[in-house]
Amino acid sequence: MLSFQFDNALIRDLPGDPQQGPQVRQVEGALYSRVDPTPVPAPHLLAHSADMAAVLDIDEADVAMPDFAQVFGGNALLDGMQPFAGNYGGHQFGNWAGQLGDGRAISLGEAINAAGQRWELQLKGAGKTPYSRGADGRAVLRSSLREFLCSEAMHHLGVPTTRALSLVDTGAAVMRDMFYDGHAAPEPGAIVCRVAPSFLRFGHFELPASRGDTGLLRQLVDFTIRRDFPQLEGAGEPLYAAWFSQVCERTAVMIAHWMRVGFVHGVMNTDNMSILGLTIDYGPYGWVDNYDPDWTPNTTDAQRRRYRFGQQPDVAWWNLSRLAGALAPLFSSVEPLQAGLDHYTAVYAAADRATIAAKLGLAACRDEDVALMQSLQSLMQQAEIDMTLWFRALAHVDAAAPLLEPMREAFYDAAKQAAAEPALRDWLARYAARLRDDPLSATQRREQMRLANPRYVLRNYLAQQAIDRATRGDAAGIHELLEVMRHPYDDQPGREAYAQRRPDWARHKAGCSMLSCSS
Ligand code: AMP
Ligand code: MG
Repeated sequence: MLSFQFDNALIRDLPGDPQQGPQVRQVEGALYSRVDPTPVPAPHLLAHSADMAAVLDIDEADVAMPDFAQVFGGNALLDGMQPFAGNYGGHQFGNWAGQLGDGRAISLGEAINAAGQRWELQLKGAGKTPYSRGADGRAVLRSSLREFLCSEAMHHLGVPTTRALSLVDTGAAVMRDMFYDGHAAPEPGAIVCRVAPSFLRFGHFELPASRGDTGLLRQLVDFTIRRDFPQLEGAGEPLYAAWFSQVCERTAVMIAHWMRVGFVHGVMNTDNMSILGLTIDYGPYGWVDNYDPDWTPNTTDAQRRRYRFGQQPDVAWWNLSRLAGALAPLFSSVEPLQAGLDHYTAVYAAADRATIAAKLGLAACRDEDVALMQSLQSLMQQAEIDMTLWFRALAHVDAAAPLLEPMREAFYDAAKQAAAEPALRDWLARYAARLRDDPLSATQRREQMRLANPRYVLRNYLAQQAIDRATRGDAAGIHELLEVMRHPYDDQPGREAYAQRRPDWARHKAGCSMLSCSS
């Protein structure tokens, strides 16, 4: 029978809103509000992650029972579940937005698995909360499916992320104006159960700070360190400083992974930044096809491109600086906070160099290798070269006789390819010379490159194809894609179709190149 051992530390140890239920309100002096999911008419399990279920000690037989869809569709609570919505604020697109909170996410409880790990279970799209403002608390199938698949794909790529357990079709339509053009239409609704040790965001700390509630801020920081960073030692300001430094470090590591695999979050507001350095809140995210540091998938950000691919490391620093500002009342001087931000810069720089070495197949990154990578990136941008295909194929280059041949599938535009070929050949010659001067053997180099350069990523058009099929009632596309994304670094014979460059039809199609925030 489906059951968990819950230890709901957050609601036990931190102050909550005395009022219950979903009525929209400003909530002061509290970090969450108790609210139950709103039942749905016909919950039906579309997909689940067997890997995540195994981590949670859930039997496959229990997944198959009708109860599973009832619980993870928000219609039934298990013993020990104490649902709540988190209260947080955030900087959105550079501006302080005040109280935001979980407008459609409802945490069910903190499950402790047999291994003693803490995993908070959270439904997204489970109905209204005090933080729903004018919105409906629901999520559409296309966005829930994208969050479900991408969470698991990122996990298997080795990128720190929240996970996903299940995707449940609610049986109820949701009205959305997908293109913000005044044409709202009904769409199928779906709920993801996402899973993480903690869903605390930078914005959780910013909100009490913005209200001058230093007592609440301190309580939250003490709680977070105790529950989520138990390895940190000490007390008082030195402990807070060590913790902030850890948050900076984890954020740097996460961003370096995004840059390695070509992931663009799309909405890096501070309410979408996890205090654990996990990728969180999959909305209008996207994967880089042709290498382009200026690309953003988010239509809402198409003008300013604040959250474009190449800007993510700087935005993360800026977001951390907002967190530092919020934490300042806990410090007698700003120096430890400045040191944390500097630590971010140093860790990111080191991780970036490690990425260069890993992607190019070098034993270590020398100063001149940074320039080698930069010149490759600018050629890839000019020539419209697929990032994933190029780096995967680069492992097949022969250092004794470097040819462009292995990378022939990576080009999108024949004319741009022809124009760039002489420069690319020059680059390959430089690269081959560098390889000949590197201690790694060809075998070692290829293995290192295989593990740093995925063959399969959740290309935007692949997710869209699974969405189109699921909308027609066929969930098999979700299962296939999930299975492929479980082994992104392996060549999977028979699954070449999932490793193709973006087809021409997908170049400007909604959902495949650009996404709206409507979800
Ligand atoms: P996001 O841009 O998805 O991170 O959302 C920003 C804020 O809007 C968060 O507080 C969300 O909970 C809230 N929000 C987004 N969509 C909805 C919705 N359909 N119903 C209620 N709240 C929502
Ligand atoms: Mg969010």
